[in-house]
Amino acid sequence: MSVERNPEAFENAPINWVPAIVLLSTPLLALVLVPWYLWSHGANPATWTAFAIFMAWTGLSITAGYHRLWSHKAYDAHPVVKYVLLFGATLAVQSSVFDWCSGHRSHHRHVDDEYDDPYSSRRGFWFSHMQWMLRKFPSGQYDYKNIPDLKKDKLLTFQHNHYGLCVVASNAIALTIVGFITGDMLGAFIIVGLLRLVLTHHFTFFINSLCHMFGSRPYTDENTARDNPILAIFTWGEGYHNYHHYFQYDYRNGVKWWQYDPTKWFILGLSKIGLAKDLKRVDGLTIKHAEVIMQFKRAQARIDGGEMSLDERLAAFKERISAEYEAFSQTVEEWHTLKAKSVELKRTEFANRLHEADERLKEQFSLVEAKIREHSERIELAYAHLKGKAATAK
Ligand SMILES: [Zn+2]
Ligand SMILES: [Zn+2]
Repeated sequence: MSVERNPEAFENAPINWVPAIVLLSTPLLALVLVPWYLWSHGANPATWTAFAIFMAWTGLSITAGYHRLWSHKAYDAHPVVKYVLLFGATLAVQSSVFDWCSGHRSHHRHVDDEYDDPYSSRRGFWFSHMQWMLRKFPSGQYDYKNIPDLKKDKLLTFQHNHYGLCVVASNAIALTIVGFITGDMLGAFIIVGLLRLVLTHHFTFFINSLCHMFGSRPYTDENTARDNPILAIFTWGEGYHNYHHYFQYDYRNGVKWWQYDPTKWFILGLSKIGLAKDLKRVDGLTIKHAEVIMQFKRAQARIDGGEMSLDERLAAFKERISAEYEAFSQTVEEWHTLKAKSVELKRTEFANRLHEADERLKEQFSLVEAKIREHSERIELAYAHLKGKAATAK
């Protein structure tokens, strides 16, 4: 979808009444009702347990369901998992699966574009956080041409066609059941319903607003998306948004072992018990390549920025970086040749020799991988060296 680049159409966009009322009234209601409930009824452990379960269920339904499964096809899930995720995502009240995924695919395709990205961060924090839903902006009117795969699914189509009914019925039924189990109907609706809804809303919205403003950019600086470990805590791992924008089909967002990405663990866990398959992963070498390119870019920017005195050592450093860059380009070329070779081999080798050939290639790949690691280490060393020199020069 491409939107007419007309500023007036944005300025005069009419109010989107239903989302506007829901999104503005629920936080206000929560601000009044939650303290009142706590003051008058105290804290019921059963209610808070249900709250935690619903936070996890509805949160993961958005991240592992609406986002990684349906928007990006990063893996395939067992039908039972799909039902549970679709139910949870409906409880989360974040628009129908068609609207969410169509908008999200546009966001990736046109990221940061003021007219075509539905929640473009170029229009500021407030717009990308929630204003984009409060009015009928041209960029938010989807024609669903980018979700042909989802439109084939009867269950998803049903949810989209009867969305209002699905939201009200699912929440009413689920919360009434919780109320009966906990014996605290008021707590079920105020804490498990309202408070959970508002928190899940804004945690998701943070990804579009804060994750495009604050954090690092280890993989690409071609868009505003950032890696932010603090936001990852609130967003079930979606805080590693720079990685995600560069490698959107990977089922992981936090790709390092130490990064907090419970959505990734959840999907991996499902695959271990046969409830998910075809988990898509970007190979380590491609990831490292993106990281090293960014390292070079940062080193160059530092030198060009002139924040240190321009002495001979700096000139030497510059030379070092250019040499390293050249060497690195060669390694990358080697890697591309290897890749092409491996495709060629798979086409021509006989099945019984394929294994043997594969082993050889694997060896060569690991050699190239080691080389790239070396480049990266040398750059880091050069950096540390320069930093040390700059400190002693001061
Ligand atoms: Zn984004
Ligand atoms: Zn995405």
